[in-house]
Amino acid sequence: MPAATGPAGAAAAESKNNPEPAPAGARTNIFDFDRVSLEDFFENVLGEKRYRAHQVMKWIHHRYVTDFDDMTDLGKALRAKLHQHAEVRAPMVIHEKPSVDGTHKWLIGMDPMNAIEAVFIPDKGRGTLCVSSQVGCALNCQFCSTATQGFNRNLTTAEIIGQVWVAARHLGNIPHQQRKLTNVVMMGMGEPLMNFDNVVRAMSIMRDDLGYGLANKRVTLSTAGMVPMIDKLGEVSDVSLAVSLHAPNDELRTELVPLNKKYPIEELMAACERYVKRKPRSSITFEYTLMKGVNDQPRHARELARLMRQFDNATQMKDAGKVNLIPFNPFPGTRFERSAESDIRAFQKLLLDAQVLTMVRRTRGDDIDAACGQLKGQVMDRTRRQAEFRKTLAAQGADDAAA
Ligand code: SF4
Repeated sequence: MPAATGPAGAAAAESKNNPEPAPAGARTNIFDFDRVSLEDFFENVLGEKRYRAHQVMKWIHHRYVTDFDDMTDLGKALRAKLHQHAEVRAPMVIHEKPSVDGTHKWLIGMDPMNAIEAVFIPDKGRGTLCVSSQVGCALNCQFCSTATQGFNRNLTTAEIIGQVWVAARHLGNIPHQQRKLTNVVMMGMGEPLMNFDNVVRAMSIMRDDLGYGLANKRVTLSTAGMVPMIDKLGEVSDVSLAVSLHAPNDELRTELVPLNKKYPIEELMAACERYVKRKPRSSITFEYTLMKGVNDQPRHARELARLMRQFDNATQMKDAGKVNLIPFNPFPGTRFERSAESDIRAFQKLLLDAQVLTMVRRTRGDDIDAACGQLKGQVMDRTRRQAEFRKTLAAQGADDAAA
């Protein structure tokens, strides 16, 4: 069966690696497969025609059916074979919380000890799902609630695409017909480029017509600046890229985003330049969380404008870099505060006056702790960071908040 044409075909073609085989005696979770790897599974493990994989993908991702017996266009013998070798195991929703502004948050259990959060944010004409890629995060950005939880493990492809499935089913989303889910951003818990293969495979399902049928530009991966992996992503994928910049110079950025010590701004911008110059060309969004008195002063805005102009020149593309200003969302125990509204507007004006395309992200879902940077989940920490954070909170007399 030929691969589909257009974006879905491109998405299917990029996934080269098949997922890890299930341990002996265990059944394979179909959620772990994108189109190519599921076709391989049907051909090599089940001894079936490759196109059968397409029928199963449609049942799962378009109709939210997880029982093979309900997949009525599959023959009885194939259903029996599927029962023997595979299962469709959706992640378990532990808790869900709607916000007054329409935002919806899910706490999703990944194993008995760990849970992550996913958030749906509806807006005029679009619905964006913010998806997690790891249980916790190892990168320790100083202004991030997830970082205080420490790190446990990477999510599997099934656990990443499972978040999309849970949200899409809740919304009654029907790809190509009744589209409620229009965008996915890999901006939840974790650094997606540190879980490369599973994230790329999950993004392939998001963009495949047999999956959620989203256009390349409607799937965004956000990174803190894993330079070599940005290049690797550019080789295999056409998704939109967002970079968590948060400071316009190395001294301040290293303080806020410790990864900057390894990959300083010059190296990061060079990797972004290479990403933009691929074909088709696409701009990059630079995320900049504004914190009172830390990175929100006029001198920071001027430095940032210079950096963006240099980026336009290097890429020879107008608006190659867009800036997304995010008012800081406080969480218990943080030493940072949100910038004053007047400072946020003044910062944006300085950038706009310097011809830098700049948006301010409206805060959504803060009544349910679902705003940007507030996701926490439940992490069986392997880094001791939770313990350190609790000690800091206790020293501040905020023990309750640390519990
Ligand atoms: S901001 Fe992102 S990369 Fe940094 S600690 Fe938080 S989740 Fe990790």
